[in-house]
Amino acid sequence: MFEKILDIIFPPKCIFCNKILNYGVKSSICENCNLKIPFLNGRDINLIKTNNYFDDIICVCEYSGIIKEALIKYKFFNRPSFGRTFAKLIYDKIKGMTDWEKVDIIIGVPLHRKKEKKRGYNQAHLISKQLGRLLEIKVNKNILVRTKNTDSQSLLNRADRLRNVKDAFLVTDSNLVKDKSILILDDILTTGTTLDECCKALKDAGARKVIAAVIATGRKF
Ligand SMILES: [Zn+2]
Repeated sequence: MFEKILDIIFPPKCIFCNKILNYGVKSSICENCNLKIPFLNGRDINLIKTNNYFDDIICVCEYSGIIKEALIKYKFFNRPSFGRTFAKLIYDKIKGMTDWEKVDIIIGVPLHRKKEKKRGYNQAHLISKQLGRLLEIKVNKNILVRTKNTDSQSLLNRADRLRNVKDAFLVTDSNLVKDKSILILDDILTTGTTLDECCKALKDAGARKVIAAVIATGRKF
């Protein structure tokens, strides 16, 4: 009911082109923009073959075009509301997977508390929260924390990225992780070092299975 009232006061708009959408839509993407999203087919991602700590990876689209623009706005230009639409994109991808096995917990890649305070929100956590609602799976923000306030990864090469995030994550209570299957979510995957460090921390704490999920990747494969 509350959401309905909000829809009337603030009609939903397409996050890409601002077109006003019908009331009650589940994702804020107009038909026209939906056609422009650089979706990846299947789960054709080669990362699994290299030494990664995740057991599988789900990646919705390429980091280009309208998705790239929207993710930049989402993260750096204060658009936390976009999280709902990004969650729906991951949800639709998961629903289309025939081998999807329900996980026990969903976690967003944590930000260091100082960075989160500065940005006002953790973009990965906001997507996780909405995805948890759609999939009816628990989301836990406190199991994994970022202990190192690392430099931005975007200007670093792979070796420096690795050094930058090494041991940056800590599992706060391994009892909550032990023997669990976990979906860990981030907005963008570039070299994969950040996500991989998270997965390593979770595996070291006894997680049975860790699946990574991202909205977009800039990796060529
Ligand atoms: Zn649109």
